[in-house]
Amino acid sequence: MKVLVINCGSSSIKYQLLDMENEELLSKGLLEKIGINGSNLQHKKGSKKHVIEKEIKNHVEGLKLIINALVDKEIGVVSDINEIDAVGHRVVHGGKIASSLRVTDEVLKAVQDNTFLAPLHNPPNLQGIKAAKEVLPDIPHIAVFDTAYHQTMPVEAYTYAIPKEFRDKYSIRRYGFHGTSHRYIGKATSDFLKKPIDELKIISCHIGNGASICAIDGGKSVDTSMGLTPLEGLIMGTRSGDIDPAIVPFLQEEEGLSPEEVSNILNKKSGMYALTNNKFLDMRDVENRALVNEPLCKTAHSIYEYRIAKYIGAYAAAMNGVDVIVFTAGVGENSPLLRRNVINKYMGYLGAGVDLEKNECRGVSRDISADDASVRVLVIPTNEELMIARDTEEIVKNNLEELHLS
Ligand code: AMP
Repeated sequence: MKVLVINCGSSSIKYQLLDMENEELLSKGLLEKIGINGSNLQHKKGSKKHVIEKEIKNHVEGLKLIINALVDKEIGVVSDINEIDAVGHRVVHGGKIASSLRVTDEVLKAVQDNTFLAPLHNPPNLQGIKAAKEVLPDIPHIAVFDTAYHQTMPVEAYTYAIPKEFRDKYSIRRYGFHGTSHRYIGKATSDFLKKPIDELKIISCHIGNGASICAIDGGKSVDTSMGLTPLEGLIMGTRSGDIDPAIVPFLQEEEGLSPEEVSNILNKKSGMYALTNNKFLDMRDVENRALVNEPLCKTAHSIYEYRIAKYIGAYAAAMNGVDVIVFTAGVGENSPLLRRNVINKYMGYLGAGVDLEKNECRGVSRDISADDASVRVLVIPTNEELMIARDTEEIVKNNLEELHLS
């Protein structure tokens, strides 16, 4: 079965075509600047990248361009559009949805209804599904939600101690994000260690530009650091992560700022960008300077890693133990410095330690634990698209309407 995986932003479409026979990636690409001057498609066949520059007005036109590239005689990977068997869609906010779902009118309505929880992400996701159904009307479309995996969290983990009236009226609770990545990491960790997932307590650290940590007990998400929105938890590229909520009304009053302005500051002007005095948000820039003891970046990096360590400690407590800590995503997969500092500075008491030689790796699956460690530390590259394609295949092959995630 060949599955097209689509991730739509407001002006972009990311895609991958996978052959699920052997989980082989046939092609991937990114269409940028939809509806803006200078739209272009970067399409990959094998290691070869092809750039097509063409004005693209909307997502329907964009998907047609992508399909044309996929079936093209020279740069394509299938000979006919009919070779694509199904489409898997990444959807950011599913609210209380706990499964991956075959797209129906009801599912589209649910994505629409959850827009108030993810006003930046759900509308383009919805637009993408509608456009793909228009361009590929005869094959199944499956929605896979970033939030769904975390619906197993217990009441202690998902409840905010604010008046019930508001919790009920606005569905305010912890939802968590990066669920598809954390679920992939749970399974990949169990495969790597050759141990059943129900026997493992895993702390999955997805540390990229956006970052979150998940406590996975017996294969289920029992807590995660992002909350109602992706703003809570770890320090990120431009997001503050946890702060005292009293800072919000304080800034509004003292600086005469609107709610939108404060939200913009916390989402777009905080995090590493703020800690480096508005200089850097890419971790490589911060690390390179921290490594040569540039004071600002060294302190920023210490604050960043301290927050990660605090969450790992919290989740070891939440699960009453931990067997394995896994690093993934852009920074987690590629930064020996971060892994070494988080684990060797703070996690000795848990029985975790990183071997400095094994830790010198990037973008590979590897056990980087010190020989005498009782808690394993792994690096595993995440693969959200593959997880979406697996769900899509399972729903379609077994003719299901929904796939329960745990
Ligand atoms: P992601 O959001 O998962 O794509 O991750 C993006 C982040 O990974 C950016 O902050 C990059 O700077 C960071 N990153 C990528 N490669 C490295 C590296 N070699 N060392 C440290 N950070 C990296």
